Amino acid sequence: MTELMKQYTQFGISESVVLFGEEILKSLEERFRQIDETAEYNQLKVIRAMQESKVSEACLMGTTGYGYNDLGRDTLEQVYAALFHTEDALVRPQITCGTHALALALMSNLRPGDELLSPVGKPYDTLEEVIGIRPSKGSLKEYGISYRQVELLPDGSFDYEGIRAAIREQTKLVTIQRSKGYQTRPTLSVSRIGELIRFIKEIRPDVICMVDNCYGEFVERIEPTDVGADMVVGSLIKNPGGGLAPIGGYIAGKRECVENAAYRLTSPGLGKEVGASLGALSSFYQGLFLAPTVTASALKGAVFAANLYEKIGFPVIPDGQESRHDIIQAVTFGSPEGVIAFCQGIQAAASVDSFVTPEPWDMPGYDSKVIMAAGAFVSGSSIELSADGPIAPPYAVYFQGGLTFPHAKLGILKTLQNLIGQGLISADFHRI
Ligand SMILES: *Cc1c(COP(=O)(O)O)cnc(C)c1O
Repeated sequence: MTELMKQYTQFGISESVVLFGEEILKSLEERFRQIDETAEYNQLKVIRAMQESKVSEACLMGTTGYGYNDLGRDTLEQVYAALFHTEDALVRPQITCGTHALALALMSNLRPGDELLSPVGKPYDTLEEVIGIRPSKGSLKEYGISYRQVELLPDGSFDYEGIRAAIREQTKLVTIQRSKGYQTRPTLSVSRIGELIRFIKEIRPDVICMVDNCYGEFVERIEPTDVGADMVVGSLIKNPGGGLAPIGGYIAGKRECVENAAYRLTSPGLGKEVGASLGALSSFYQGLFLAPTVTASALKGAVFAANLYEKIGFPVIPDGQESRHDIIQAVTFGSPEGVIAFCQGIQAAASVDSFVTPEPWDMPGYDSKVIMAAGAFVSGSSIELSADGPIAPPYAVYFQGGLTFPHAKLGILKTLQNLIGQGLISADFHRI
């Protein structure tokens, strides 16, 4: 037994499981090489943005109180603008999460009487309350902002005629979600987002096109702002925080869009001038620096899991061969036991809280019980190795993250070992 094999067996993973994993990995060498090339390209992009913006040691310090003249904060916003090729950016620890960043971008750029359009079907769950699709205090709907939605066609393509018909005089902003989130539609590539924006701008050049960029950053070499998006929005405890950012969100885009968001985040008249960065800046900078390779690690984990579970006989979305546009992997186990065994395997591979056993529980906002595995350094961070699944048909888990590929690999092997232990997979790696 090799030294490495011994390490795996100490985690309770059998030799045959490790060898099965190795066999899958052998077939992925070319795929991983391409992921590494994208990471290399994006690493250079990040370093160049930092050099051009003259990031200095002083930028890593924070301010307190009002945060006037916060050099590090203002420079970081320049770095994000350079990276996304936009006029300006707002990158703040006061933006508490992805939903908050999206709500901020919407509420600050829409006025009573305006209409919001989603041409790609239902938005992410938490946005339903922001928009007012589900009644909620403070929603856009309460402020007289209406909403329309055009579904994707059954084959996942854009319903161009439906979209044309839905763009009206009042349409002020179009929101496009890049990642599929927890749906089964395909994730949109940046180039498809570009086609959609071109179509919309031909009809109404003045409509603001915003992209929910969560889970998409650095997966490709270009970002939605390179193909016409007026604004991209995301969370720093996902890809662009590189696992180090302890909080935060960003909005990058046209000067006016960002300015509107800043006046809403702080106050009319104050805008970007206030907002102390406290001690968060060095982790924002260093996290962004690491983000391209961290995203690549998470992507490799997703591709590995897809190919491994596909080979065993479980449906996976995206499939093993598909090109990737976000870091989320869904695996359908078809039974509650499968979902639970998978999540418990991910948890058991964590550095933090590995000794706890996640169980399904009733979560606010969900119809069914949900199980979540997250042993994270940053609470709730989903760029770290994590998984969750509703205990309801079709019994799928959504798996993402992994700050390093060896960690993602360990987690996935541990899930396989657990599923075999539960009698859901045979000893010769077939679905039972
Ligand atoms: C995660 C996510 C959000 C919301 O982000 P939170 O930080 O969880 O509030 C919104 N949209 C998409 C597509 C996401 O993946």
